[in-house]
Amino acid sequence: MKKQRPTSSIPDHDRFRILVENSLDAAATIDREGKVTYVSPSICRVLGYSNEDFVKLNAFEIVHPADRQTARSRFADLLDQSGSSQTVVNRMQHRDGSWRWIETVSTNQIDTDGVNAVIASFRDVTTRQQALNAVRDAEERLRFIVESATEFAIFTTDLAGRVNSWNSGANRILGYEDSEIVGQDCRIFFTPEDNARDQSESEMHHALLEGRGNDEKWHVRKDGSRFWGSGLMMPLRDDDGVVHGYLKIFRDMTREKKAQQELQAADRRKDEFLAVLAHELRNPLAAISNAAALLLTPVNEDAWAKGVIQRQSKHLARLLDDLLDMARITQGKIRLNREQFNLRSVIGSAVETVTRLLKEKNHQLILNISSEEIFIFGDPTRIEQVVINLLTNAIKYTDDRGRITVTLQRGADALIIVRDTGIGISRDMQEKIFELFVQVDRMNERSDSGLGIGLTLARSIVELHGGRIWVKSDGRDKGSEFGIVLPLADT
Ligand code: ADP
Repeated sequence: MKKQRPTSSIPDHDRFRILVENSLDAAATIDREGKVTYVSPSICRVLGYSNEDFVKLNAFEIVHPADRQTARSRFADLLDQSGSSQTVVNRMQHRDGSWRWIETVSTNQIDTDGVNAVIASFRDVTTRQQALNAVRDAEERLRFIVESATEFAIFTTDLAGRVNSWNSGANRILGYEDSEIVGQDCRIFFTPEDNARDQSESEMHHALLEGRGNDEKWHVRKDGSRFWGSGLMMPLRDDDGVVHGYLKIFRDMTREKKAQQELQAADRRKDEFLAVLAHELRNPLAAISNAAALLLTPVNEDAWAKGVIQRQSKHLARLLDDLLDMARITQGKIRLNREQFNLRSVIGSAVETVTRLLKEKNHQLILNISSEEIFIFGDPTRIEQVVINLLTNAIKYTDDRGRITVTLQRGADALIIVRDTGIGISRDMQEKIFELFVQVDRMNERSDSGLGIGLTLARSIVELHGGRIWVKSDGRDKGSEFGIVLPLADT
């Protein structure tokens, strides 16, 4: 059995000496001028000095120059108030030249009889301070990253969804200053549709269950405009793992979203186009095969059957020409055979081409053609193709006994206008109809309704000539007006 050392026999003053001399902290008395009048031998452990050497110093001499001014004024504050205490942490120079973080706890006992000094203890807290500094640096770095990530809206909310931090990216994307938004419910960025179905709650719920939730939806900016935000949401937990809020990060991906929607729409249009194409090719083929069957019977309908075959084959050839042109547009392979030509004669032959169609529908044709010669430099066949297309559309999309007006004028440019009294085009469709395969009423019952290629082709051809094409219509059943300007040839 180990023998217990008797402690009670140590006299009190020795016990205090042992305590002071063996403590990890150094204890000192300091006078009004900051001069150390006594220091315990532990100062050697803290700052490397023997206690005899340390008392020869003024304590402020070894405080880091950057901390010295503050240290002096804190000491002056302490001297001002008898009996007060303070804790300061400064860098002090170890005897070996290195800098240490020293925590000094001091009490002003200058007015206490028998003490008449500031009592101080010095403790080396370098490891703790370095850890604190590392945390602070990491926080600052994180704050810097969050602030510089202006492409990203980054913000946090409490459990109820109220915003409690907000970065400059969020300000840029959503339009709110942090002073306006902190404390507000994040539902104000949600669309009314999403709020009506408690989307915010279900996102939080999902983030809680899964650890993170995708945030991909339309959001509302401060000015009421919408944008497609794409990002995620994560629950924020404290040290005990208890969720106390959420972090949201997203980017404005409106452009990408719209491009994706446009691609999907183009894809859908292509599918619809294939259906229309099949339909359009089947009709003339059916007519041709009926006519051919008739030719094989003894019934004397030869002339009629030959007529059907000729008309329908022409129609098929036109469809195939359109298809070939479409392939040329999409591959940018339309070539122009340019020459100087008179627009008046091109318009004349385009009108001639559609005369039969005009008659079939009993339309009235009004020609408003300038008597001047109007020369342009381009491909007459292609320009005629454009005008035939506009005329055919005007005839097709106007009920029987309509009125079609063709205008040709010369100003700074050549101007062609084809106006009809037909079904018109709603405003939202007016730009779209120039896109490939776009038809306002796909698969409508109008016979010979086409493939939705003509106007795309017309625009490409006009633009290749340095010109412009547009449409105007006051809407459904209000008729349409297609206009083309083309630069005049240099004379
Ligand atoms: P297509 O006539 O073969 O369908 P187009 O590219 O020439 O193809 O025209 C695209 C669409 O624009 C048409 O399907 C039609 O819906 C609309 N459109 C064109 N011209 C007119 C017009 N004059 N009046 C009303 N709608 C028109």
